[in-house]
Amino acid sequence: MSSSNRFDAVAKIGDKPTLERIELPPANIDFYAKDVFNETAIRQYLSKGIAEQLIATINNGTPLDPTIAGDVAHAMKEWAIERGATHYTHWFQPLTSGTAEKHDSFLEPDGNSSAIMSFSGKNLVVGESDASSFPSGGIRSTFEARGYTAWDPTSPAFIKRHPNGATLCIPTAFCSYTGAALDKKTPLLRSIQALKASVRRLMNCFGVEEANAKVTLGAEQEYFLIDKKFYLQRPDLIQTGRTLFGAPPAKHQQLEDHYFGSIKPRIVSFMTEVEKELWALGIPAKTRHNEVAPAQFELAPVFEELNLSVDHNMLVMEVLRTVAERYGLICLLHEKPFVGVNGSGKHNNWSVSYGSRNLLDPGKDPEQNMIFLTVLAGIIRGIDLHADLLRACTCSVGNDHRLGAGEAPPAIISIFLGDQLNEIVERIVAGDRKASKKLEPMRIGVDTLPPLPRDATDRNRTSPFAFTSNKFEFRSPGSSQSCANVNMMLNTIVAESLDYISEKLEKVQQKEFTEQLQIILKDIMKKHKRIIFNGNGYSEEWRKEAEKRGLPNLANTLEGLKPLLDNNNQKFLEKYAVLSKIEMSSRYEVFLEDYYRRLRIEGEIASELASSVIMPVVMAEYKFAVEALETATAIKLKAGTKGIRNKATILGVGIDAITECCSMLNAALVEMNAPAIIEEMTKLRKIVDDLECVVDDQKWPLPKYREMLFLY
Ligand code: ADP
Ligand code: MG
Repeated sequence: MSSSNRFDAVAKIGDKPTLERIELPPANIDFYAKDVFNETAIRQYLSKGIAEQLIATINNGTPLDPTIAGDVAHAMKEWAIERGATHYTHWFQPLTSGTAEKHDSFLEPDGNSSAIMSFSGKNLVVGESDASSFPSGGIRSTFEARGYTAWDPTSPAFIKRHPNGATLCIPTAFCSYTGAALDKKTPLLRSIQALKASVRRLMNCFGVEEANAKVTLGAEQEYFLIDKKFYLQRPDLIQTGRTLFGAPPAKHQQLEDHYFGSIKPRIVSFMTEVEKELWALGIPAKTRHNEVAPAQFELAPVFEELNLSVDHNMLVMEVLRTVAERYGLICLLHEKPFVGVNGSGKHNNWSVSYGSRNLLDPGKDPEQNMIFLTVLAGIIRGIDLHADLLRACTCSVGNDHRLGAGEAPPAIISIFLGDQLNEIVERIVAGDRKASKKLEPMRIGVDTLPPLPRDATDRNRTSPFAFTSNKFEFRSPGSSQSCANVNMMLNTIVAESLDYISEKLEKVQQKEFTEQLQIILKDIMKKHKRIIFNGNGYSEEWRKEAEKRGLPNLANTLEGLKPLLDNNNQKFLEKYAVLSKIEMSSRYEVFLEDYYRRLRIEGEIASELASSVIMPVVMAEYKFAVEALETATAIKLKAGTKGIRNKATILGVGIDAITECCSMLNAALVEMNAPAIIEEMTKLRKIVDDLECVVDDQKWPLPKYREMLFLY
């Protein structure tokens, strides 16, 4: 790290190497999902009877017959070896921010100085894992350090390739020996089951023909790309994923010229290779574009079944990171890598379907309208009752920089419906004719909804939870977060609310069904419409209004995690068998611990950089100014002394300020006082960023924003 390295990097990026041409896969079905042990592979590698049994488990959730595990494992191994795999791993999602894998080779010595390639049913179904080094929040007592991973047949096994071969990856859940969830997948699967049961129950009330319920997710992923040569000179980025220093450049995003702009060749080549890898993994990457901030981009897939989609998003993040390095780039998934420009989120597009019917599609006939409005009412009620829990799932040290910063939704959870749908809600609430003068009441089951236009201009980007024509888009989750937790919570919240409605409907006589439904929905909407807000979520008025309405405003992670400890909340998740009290409390511990650890890392690296990287440069510059002043005075030259004295003063004040601020920061770190650490880091940043603008550019050691965000 020195200014000459910085200038070398700039020069090297200037003479761009010719990009290697990537052989694009033919866009045919043969290529898509070629590295996935999916239905096609199952049918090809297993006998018909076993294949059908396995597919039934995957598609309909019928329990897996353990006696077929051996055959499935054998088929999977043959398939994987043909694709170059030498190892297999149970691939799981511990309570860290990433995924975990421990590889075992298929190799088995046969005792005759030779070996075979073997993979048993037992190897497939369960794996033992020393859980002691994964966060468990106290669930795993030290004498019971073992955990086990259990095959999740509903997410297909896949092949992960590397330059020297490949590994068979088996998506798994991760539990303690007492059965407590140590991962994110287990409660997600439980919540999907709960929601499906509630949907089925509700659909029975409506007399809809039996079908499969399905929860769907399309996760839009935002990310930054910067040149690796800059990254290597930014210890803050390397250690924390975000810049702790960096003066705002004159040009940032104010010209609005990046969003949807033409994509530079290096980037579009990168994106194409990412897509090639994702398609091979059966991940339907669909959309790519420049995002709002300079050097910021987005990838959106076609939606899929929720559990699969969550796994796929974890892989999307991994593929983005690994492919970026091949292009000499670094993919930053942090929620706020650069101050002064937009951060990155993960828009969580969620819906529920029953058979071929999307329950969030308003539809064209009174029956579908009725179902849609019922599910909508359920969601409104659920979100209003449990906004705190939903908020809790979006907490992280990184996301704290984004939520409420006037570029992403506020920390206050509310629902955006759009004017037309909002009017429908008001018409339902207006109810009996005499109550309403202005609004014609909406008669459920009789009136037909007016077509709700899919109007792109009407999009309210300031809302955390927005209805977008046939799905809800939850925009609070951070770009680096797994989608598992938010959806686990969302599913449970909605499941409970749909059950609430079903319980009422089940008592209703068939002939008065629509009449009673009207009353139920009116009652719900009246009680819970305070959660609906169609205005500007960034505004100060909304904050005040939300407070008046009694909506929770949990401004940061320390506040936001607390609902996980609330007794009623714990009972609620326990009732739905999604998280036990112990599991929930342990998650609180893990997430809080993660917050403190990351904050400590940030504080320590900020202090170290300021003292050992910035300070020497400022001191050299100070010395230079002081000596110039001495020389001028010695030869009685007046011109310039005022300017030099002024500069020396600015630098001297800066040196004192850094010294003082670092010592305050270090003291806050000793106490581990989170608000004080944040405050001192903010102060330190201001001091350093101001110095960046006055110190000789030729000497500044850290790559600047105007370089990192624009030169690639
Ligand atoms: P928009 O332009 O409104 O953001 P898109 O059609 O681009 O809508 O979709 C955004 C994301 O929402 C995509 O990932 C898409 O697959 C997903 N999506 C669309 N329909 C559904 C659905 N029924 N359930 C879940 N996700 C959906
Ligand atoms: Mg979007």
